[in-house]
Amino acid sequence: MSEASAEIVVVVRGTEVLVDRSNGTTRLCSREAALGYGGAPIFVGLSNGQRWYATPALPDLQLPAELGFCAARALFSELPEATVHMIGRAFACVEFEQNHRFCGRCATPTTLAAATAAIEPNERVRVCPNCALTFHPRIPPAVIVLVERDDGRLLLARGANFPAGRFSAVAGFVEIGESLEDAAQREVQEEVGVRITDLRYFSSQPWPFGHSLMIAFHARYDGGELRPDGVEIVEADWFQRDALPQLPPPISIARRMIEDFLARAAPPSN
Ligand SMILES: [Zn+2]
Repeated sequence: MSEASAEIVVVVRGTEVLVDRSNGTTRLCSREAALGYGGAPIFVGLSNGQRWYATPALPDLQLPAELGFCAARALFSELPEATVHMIGRAFACVEFEQNHRFCGRCATPTTLAAATAAIEPNERVRVCPNCALTFHPRIPPAVIVLVERDDGRLLLARGANFPAGRFSAVAGFVEIGESLEDAAQREVQEEVGVRITDLRYFSSQPWPFGHSLMIAFHARYDGGELRPDGVEIVEADWFQRDALPQLPPPISIARRMIEDFLARAAPPSN
């Protein structure tokens, strides 16, 4: 592998990245193009032996026909998962650098703690040279809960911001002082009005576009009447396994939980 191909530079603009669509495929633009269309590169991390950098797009770019900005979410289905993961990190790194330029306590400009790059290449810390306060990226935890009934039906809900017809598991952010279990029970109660029991950890997934960490649980219904809150959840229902609504995309942890449920609770074949 050449020196140049071992480095990838992602040009970020809002929630979009710069891609090259020549030859009928979608890929990140070349390192050379990225360095021409972005500001100073920010180290993102290492992945598969490659050094990844992110750079905010320069304003008012005149791009050649084969290059264009593309919503990062639209790339979920077009690029390998490891690449999507690093693009997510690139967004988070650019936002962290842009939002922590000054110390929140004494307003002095912060600097990147360079020493950490050699020790922990994926760690990211900014430090205030005046009062020594340090700033790490904030990663607010969110829980997502897939509730099932003993009769085999699944509770799925449609969030107010979902595309029409799509349903998913219930999710929400953990509040100060709550355990993950507390948050799971509160969110389900608040958003759809039912009580849950028998919480079982499933898996977790970083969610860089909302800058959070999703922690997923299976749970069993324990009582209460289904009653969407009408604000965050506009519709919710119990679904039979063979009559599921439109589900979230395969890359999402919600979809993986649902697939896990379907595989685990498959009826005996005849
Ligand atoms: Zn300070």
